[in-house]
Amino acid sequence: MTQPPSPGPAPTSDLPEGLHPQTLALRTAMPRSAYGEHSEALYLTSGYVQDTAEAAAARFAGDEEGFTYARYGNPTVASLEQRLAAMEGTQAAIATASGMSAILMLCLGVLKAGDHVVCSHSMFGATVKLIGSDLARFGVQATFVSQTNPDEWAKAITPQTRLLFAETPTNPLGDVCDMTALADMAHRAGALLAVDNCFVTPALQRPAQWGADVVVHSGTKYLDGQGRVMAGALCASAALVQEKLMPMLRSGGMTLAPFNAWVVLKGLETLQLRLQAQSAQALQLAQWLQTQPGVAHVHYTGLPSHPQHHLAMRQQSGQGGPIVSFDVRASSPEQARQRAFGVINALRVLSRSTNIGDTKTLVTHPASTSHGRLSEAQRQAAGVGQGLLRVAVGLEHMDDIQADLLRGLPTA
Ligand SMILES: *Cc1c(COP(=O)(O)O)cnc(C)c1O
Repeated sequence: MTQPPSPGPAPTSDLPEGLHPQTLALRTAMPRSAYGEHSEALYLTSGYVQDTAEAAAARFAGDEEGFTYARYGNPTVASLEQRLAAMEGTQAAIATASGMSAILMLCLGVLKAGDHVVCSHSMFGATVKLIGSDLARFGVQATFVSQTNPDEWAKAITPQTRLLFAETPTNPLGDVCDMTALADMAHRAGALLAVDNCFVTPALQRPAQWGADVVVHSGTKYLDGQGRVMAGALCASAALVQEKLMPMLRSGGMTLAPFNAWVVLKGLETLQLRLQAQSAQALQLAQWLQTQPGVAHVHYTGLPSHPQHHLAMRQQSGQGGPIVSFDVRASSPEQARQRAFGVINALRVLSRSTNIGDTKTLVTHPASTSHGRLSEAQRQAAGVGQGLLRVAVGLEHMDDIQADLLRGLPTA
């Protein structure tokens, strides 16, 4: 957020107006240093030297822009923040150490005891735990509703509701919520809408365009895109960032390390290309899986068979994103689990990994991993059966991906 003390040779404000997000993903950054480096500099420093005592006083008082201490300001981190905000189409962004610390910062910044949050059942597990259990200890109540039914969200709103939190599309089935409907509802109630955009990223979906006030990111996933570092961010208006979130960064210290910021900053340069290629691969894989005798059902927003296909195509630039899930064909839950495990154990190329957001394809069994702590009834409600496999589709040759899945997939 912080501007440099003295502009370098090529400040981003020199960029002409009206550039496309794809261009901004490469060109938005803090000014170059006096050395004119082409790749953005990595500033490994915890402190900054002030020209005079008066300048230090002015900066600490907030009367003058400029870096004072790296817990709340670093030029490499600022480059990432500016670039991500430009890509999401928000005025500002604030980077954090992980996706979860971004969500914690949001909750600490905008909620207080007595407030109420509405969110969907089918969100990232740690988010459900944070908002549903951890915040309850501080007097913040939450109601969990259906991902796809806006009426349930509307009914759950109370006079105390300050935040609606959505994740779209969700893991692992790709359930999609209508962001405009939720934004209207939130704003009528005087609440904010936050949307976790981890799964399809600003390359495909820009929640602010559909009315979201805060866009939540785990930079650990597709923004980095190669499984290297942890990072997180919130994108929002300059007022929200300066008045509600920056104070939490100062006192809470959920600061992103400059090296991790630099890795994600460089990752953003190829985000559009990767997400488009990985989405195209995912669609091809989903269509192929539909023709396999060992597969009972394919869950992918890019397929017309997906229940929210049309909404997803409207919100996600006509693309389904990189994640495909499918149920193996089986006649009982025991057989389904055994067959799903069979597919995973036979893999020789793809990774047995519960992560997402990599250029390498990752395969996981949600019922025994990400959703393993849920009761069978909760899993049924979430649609996560014992035969479900999730594939975060990477960039290997499609023939090799298919052949690897076929090693353990019943062929009749
Ligand atoms: C991974 C993930 C998070 C949390 O991000 P971390 O960087 O692991 O803290 C939040 N939301 C979604 C949808 C995720 O996939």
